[in-house]
Amino acid sequence: MARALVTGGAGFLGSHLCEALLARGYEVIAMDSLLTGDVRNIEHLIGRPGFQFVKYDVTNHVHVPGKLDAILHFASPASPVDYLELPIQTLKVGSLGTHKTLGLAKEKKARYLLASTSEVYGDPLVHPQTEDYWGNVNPIGPRGVYDEAKRFAEAMTMAYHRTHGVETRIVRIFNTYGPRMRLRDGRALPMFLTQALRGEDVTVYGDGTQTRSFCYVSDLIEGIIRLLESNETLPVNIGNPTEMTIEEFAREIVKRTGSRSKVVYRPLPKDDPKQRRPDITKARTLLGWEPKVALGDGLEKTIEWFRPRVAELA
Ligand code: UDP
Repeated sequence: MARALVTGGAGFLGSHLCEALLARGYEVIAMDSLLTGDVRNIEHLIGRPGFQFVKYDVTNHVHVPGKLDAILHFASPASPVDYLELPIQTLKVGSLGTHKTLGLAKEKKARYLLASTSEVYGDPLVHPQTEDYWGNVNPIGPRGVYDEAKRFAEAMTMAYHRTHGVETRIVRIFNTYGPRMRLRDGRALPMFLTQALRGEDVTVYGDGTQTRSFCYVSDLIEGIIRLLESNETLPVNIGNPTEMTIEEFAREIVKRTGSRSKVVYRPLPKDDPKQRRPDITKARTLLGWEPKVALGDGLEKTIEWFRPRVAELA
């Protein structure tokens, strides 16, 4: 039986990844410092044969007894609000955490998959973003702690591949949504949904003309597992190419929740990318992958998960 380590295993994407790997017959160790992760995301897996949770911060030396066939490095704060509050932790988990987990992959002769990000493209000057675009990142801006850590992580991953022959994979993840996002983590969907369900003003930053492309979590996880099982060592974009403005996205959420919330405008955060849409030609041709879940269906499932939890908020 194949054995996988998922760092950030109690987070939004990590917990979905643990489930998908278990369903495919992997034994799974979920590791998480619980800085932004939450054990409630995996409590239904605890006690299940083949699943183990270890609370640990992977910026320190990582020791895992026994064999490992795959390491998937998903630990990191993932919301721009978190980067502002946890800048050093964000830099450390992307740099030191990648180094430690790559070292572990080398020792165990495990395949390594790095969760990278569309943020490596920064505020992109090429649209849609293809994998060969080098990006437009402000290294010292508020998002730089995440963007540069992930850029370093990609460089380190390629260096371990080229120097030590570690079998590596790099996925560049675009905006993703679904159940288990932290209710008020600062990202657009959890903010809008929580606000709409509480009847509060829905806060669009700037004039709302900036664009994003939102992928439902099950589509993203399927793409990641296909990449893991492929032979591609260079980065692959995984995301949904359906692009919309943030204003449209906010109004869609207000409509689908049946809320009477008003959309209000707040200052645009510094270095907020103006547009973002993945070119997924590579994922289509190489992995035979493309997203299947329409925004309406994904939102319904996400609203269903958020509704009772938002009701419990003080
Ligand atoms: N955004 C917004 N209101 C909010 C939270 C986010 O208008 O309450 C905007 C944000 O400025 C950005 C977009 O929504 O333009 C997506 O933001 P998110 O934090 O989800 O991720 P990003 O794609 O910027 O990393």
